[in-house]
Amino acid sequence: MASKTTKKNQIDLGGINTIDVKNPVTGELIGSVPKTDAQTVAQVVEQARDASARWAALSVEQRGQMIRKWGDLMWAEQNRIMRLIRDETGKNDTGAFIELIGLDNTINYYVAQAPKLLAPQRRTAMFPLIQWSKVFFKPHGVVGMISPWNYPLYLALADAVPALVAGNVVVFKPSEFTPFTVMAAVDLMVKAGIPQNVVQVVTGDGVTGKALVDVVDYVCFTGSTATGRKIAMQAGERLIPYSLELGGKDPMIVLEDANLDIAAAGAILNACENAGQMCLSTERIYVAEAVYDEYVRRVVDYVKSMKIGAGDGLDVDMGSMTTERELLRVEDHIQDAIAKGAELVYGGKRRPELGPLFIEPAILVNVDHSMRVMQEETFGPIIPIMKISNEREAVRLANDSEYGLGASIYTRNLAHGELLATQIDAGSVAINRNSAGVAASASLPWGGNKASGVGRRGGPEGLYRFTKPLSVFTDTLIGTQPSLTLLDPLTLFGLKAMRIIRRFIPNI
Ligand code: NAD
Repeated sequence: MASKTTKKNQIDLGGINTIDVKNPVTGELIGSVPKTDAQTVAQVVEQARDASARWAALSVEQRGQMIRKWGDLMWAEQNRIMRLIRDETGKNDTGAFIELIGLDNTINYYVAQAPKLLAPQRRTAMFPLIQWSKVFFKPHGVVGMISPWNYPLYLALADAVPALVAGNVVVFKPSEFTPFTVMAAVDLMVKAGIPQNVVQVVTGDGVTGKALVDVVDYVCFTGSTATGRKIAMQAGERLIPYSLELGGKDPMIVLEDANLDIAAAGAILNACENAGQMCLSTERIYVAEAVYDEYVRRVVDYVKSMKIGAGDGLDVDMGSMTTERELLRVEDHIQDAIAKGAELVYGGKRRPELGPLFIEPAILVNVDHSMRVMQEETFGPIIPIMKISNEREAVRLANDSEYGLGASIYTRNLAHGELLATQIDAGSVAINRNSAGVAASASLPWGGNKASGVGRRGGPEGLYRFTKPLSVFTDTLIGTQPSLTLLDPLTLFGLKAMRIIRRFIPNI
């Protein structure tokens, strides 16, 4: 690792620029980390490159065993890890546990599925029987894993699992707000037997992240759309592959036949999880005219009963926001909406007695698409509810966004819900659940369309992005006469014959 942690989160700072990491609820200093410079980043990546051949030479099962052992260590130390996540982010126990269980689920999925998915695949050659062909899945080499602060554990490590199991080595660049969670997880990886240079951390801000993109073989980025665009351009210059999990503005559609209690609770769970600081947060709600008033009433009732605070326990519904920048944006969006004619029917007030960055969930009605709260990513606990007159309008409005990450639809007609889901331009749509349900299912690909990203995490798609397919083609006719023409009479006859045969036996 570029920097070493001790039990007290003190690091070998090496006299360079440092970043103080503070608890957003108490303001206490958790520790300081170096702003790693470009030269050190390059050295770390070189060490990783040196370690990569030996790691890639292990079998998928051997790598999987070490990853599973690491997962078990994480599970055994869940209280310490959850405390660290909470100290860095200000989220509640539920939010911290979700990260841990989500990661554990991802480990189980890839450790079990990767041996089959990464095994060389037989494919059909031009002339079957006399020609063989196979696809091998080779690792890229060094993967740079750049992650945000809102889910500091899950959003760095859940991508590292498929990258590592596929034989890549990983250099993490965690968010400058939450580096210690990733560092603790990487320490446990080393304890589980994963060689030290196979998983390393470089700390710092965007400057360090940019330096990492300059030297790795693949970039796996999760964060804002603005940063994602810069990374795509930088990766484009170097012609290296990348995946980008970016921002969202997820819509929810509540149809006339929905179970309104489930739909109200679903909105609150998905708009207020991690104080709304979730890429898949529900940020716009479109409700059928016939049930609109009743729906708003139920949302207000449920929000009023929420428990907000910094206390321990799974009964705390919402914790703190993580940075003042996020809190100010939430307030801006509320003010902009009110100035343009929206009505704040509940909440939206700061709760300084709980901590400096606490705010009540805000419920807005009479909203429309001229307001920032319906267009820009808020990343905070606002529930804007808009009346719609028919389904077509709901789908049109849901798609009227530069983003396309997730969406949800509430209806008792499940088949109809599924049909409607296919009309939404997003990476995932959940029916009668929030789209975080998709993220929790490790076998499902999830990610964004439009400004929400490029590529998918989860499922086979999330594994194959960390591989370079290598096609190997073998011709067995080594005893025949050489020919200097590509289309000698026999080959020409064979091609014409195969054309006819494949009409009747397409898979040959
Ligand atoms: P951010 O883009 O500010 O930072 C993300 C990471 O990128 C940090 O580690 C940061 O240091 C680094 N970085 C900044 N500039 C860089 C550059 N030029 N080159 C390389 N690295 C650079 O995002 P954030 O504020 O940490 O996270 C919040 C955003 O992340 C929100 O927009 C949210 O929607 C998005 N997000 C998306 C997903 C998803 O899966 N789609 C998940 C969580 C968060």
